[in-house]
Amino acid sequence: MRLQEYQAKMLFEKHGIKIPRGRVARSPEEVEKIARELGGKVVIKAQVLVGGRGKAGGIKKAESPEEARNISSNLIGGKIKGHRVEKVLVEELLNIESEMYVGFTVDRVSKGIAAILSSVGGVDVEEIARSYPERIATQVIDPRWGLYDYNIRNLLTRSKIPRELWNEVSYITSKLYEIMVTYEAELVEINPLAVTKKGLIAADARMSVDDNALFRHQDLAKLSEFTEENELEREASKLGLNYVHIGGDVGIMANGAGMAMATMDLIKLMGGSPANFLDIGGGASKEEVKRAFEVLLKSNAKSIFVNIFGGITRCDDVAAGIVEVLKALDVKIPIVVRLAGTNEEEGRKILKESGLKLFIAKEMEEGAKLAVDLAR
Ligand code: GDP
Ligand code: MN
Repeated sequence: MRLQEYQAKMLFEKHGIKIPRGRVARSPEEVEKIARELGGKVVIKAQVLVGGRGKAGGIKKAESPEEARNISSNLIGGKIKGHRVEKVLVEELLNIESEMYVGFTVDRVSKGIAAILSSVGGVDVEEIARSYPERIATQVIDPRWGLYDYNIRNLLTRSKIPRELWNEVSYITSKLYEIMVTYEAELVEINPLAVTKKGLIAADARMSVDDNALFRHQDLAKLSEFTEENELEREASKLGLNYVHIGGDVGIMANGAGMAMATMDLIKLMGGSPANFLDIGGGASKEEVKRAFEVLLKSNAKSIFVNIFGGITRCDDVAAGIVEVLKALDVKIPIVVRLAGTNEEEGRKILKESGLKLFIAKEMEEGAKLAVDLAR
């Protein structure tokens, strides 16, 4: 489970890490009120669970409470990378001198926890990692022993953190590790860790907790929020479908998790973005195909790519199912179907003769490209 920024920040603050003053708002009026309390100049941050909100227009600065209200009336209710903005975090505008990065993540390869520290952080951290590899240090921590001071010193030296900041960075790093293990997190991250005249402040916070450990952390489980996206996921899981909301514009339906993943990759490769992950499983019944379409039609998708490999499941059965389902549903977006495997010829014939406006593809690549073009 991924926490919203404001939720992660509350936890960080509880553990002694400084965060900007601020509060969450659901309406432009509330934003204005909070901005006034904070002295006028604020940052308004969309609370959506996607990375790179800054670049996607989800982080805005305002010079006055009125401006804050105006900006947030566009932000609240709108979408950032396909995710609806229900709440914004309104914070005092920091005077940032420089940006650093600190984070911990589970490292499966070493069966440990990877600590990452960098003296350069911010929105382009991946880019920075490429241009300044010498300013990023990573170190695997053995969870049985925990984080020792010498681990931190090693990270501080290697990442070239200025000497005068060592005390403060050490403190924050050890507190962040404490949070990582206390809540059995998969990832905790501060990016940017802002260097200001008032000290180091966590300007952003990211945290995701292992779902399998959530039962031990009821206080965190309670934080799981109602959002349109996870509502759709919940609905799908009740219907026995394996659906994950991604937020792009090409809806995907495939049989088998591997097939669904490969289809998503292909959509990306063709320059598009998948709306979802959806595995209807092998041997899906007509009823299941119908439910899957219904869920897809509620997502963001502007086109749908049905990619089926017939093994034990026969393509003609699948095709007959698709035709029956689509005749019963009111579908306004283009649908591309690719059938391969057992009885594929028969399957395509059924689709062609159905009288439905379907786009039929023989190859995966061809189908993916078509679906991406049609979504535009
Ligand atoms: P992300 O794009 O989703 O990671 O969102 P962040 O919370 O990291 O914000 C993106 C960028 O906005 C940060 O890297 C900062 O450069 C900038 N930013 C965020 N808060 C403040 C602030 O209070 N003051 C200033 N000057 N910049 C900020
Ligand atoms: Mn950030």
